[in-house]
Amino acid sequence: MRAPLIAGNWKMNTTVSEAIELVKELRQGLDKIDNVDKVLCPPFISLVAVRELIEGSPIKLGAQNIHFEPKGAYTGEISPLMIADLCQFVIIGHSERRQYFNENGEVINKKVTAALAAGLKPILCIGERSEENEAGRTEEVVTEQLRSSLAGIDYPDELVIAYEPVWAIGTGKAATGEQANKTIGFIRRTISQKYGERTAQGIRILYGGSVTAANTVEFIQQPEIDGALVGGASLKATEFLSIVKQTSEIRGCLLEES
Ligand code: PEP
Repeated sequence: MRAPLIAGNWKMNTTVSEAIELVKELRQGLDKIDNVDKVLCPPFISLVAVRELIEGSPIKLGAQNIHFEPKGAYTGEISPLMIADLCQFVIIGHSERRQYFNENGEVINKKVTAALAAGLKPILCIGERSEENEAGRTEEVVTEQLRSSLAGIDYPDELVIAYEPVWAIGTGKAATGEQANKTIGFIRRTISQKYGERTAQGIRILYGGSVTAANTVEFIQQPEIDGALVGGASLKATEFLSIVKQTSEIRGCLLEES
């Protein structure tokens, strides 16, 4: 049974003091929920402060990006080793990085490889753009993204995948639970073809794209969906807590039934 995971991607939001306030609001509520993995991904500049505030709590920390080199003359970049010193997770290949920072499959592959080598759990984001969706090319696009991102990686056991259709990110226009479940099932079968069924059944695949407290149930009740990568709604403590709580209730029941 895969443990559900809810990750909050704060993107380029919150000053350090705002991040501290948000974590203070979240911590008590999140600490009470033990059957869901909770990951906060604040901006780099707040990682140290947030880490101190969640010490002793089951909340896990993630970064939003890394460079693929361990160290060196890369002004302004942050290495996997630096992140592994503070965090357990790192988001890689988010569509905003692909779109605004020209990250392609080769770069994303280097980052996933470097993250795994540093002992980090990559949250690899994949998903089709609107025009690709409309042209019925979703499966082709995610297959190619998986192929390029995972090239040369033999043991992806620590990997988490987030299926994030680009047209659903930050638009308020989420996929339906059924659509997301179908594509995530396809992603799992693709992973199974490459790594075998046992590995595929162990990898958590999240849905991301306009998840809110109001639509969480639609996604979490789907059998292939193991949680959510949440952007905008992760910046509001009550909203994020409600998403985690609902996940806990639904998955708690499923765990008891199985
Ligand atoms: C994201 O940034 O990964 C995301 C899913 O954003 P939002 O929830 O705001 O659509």
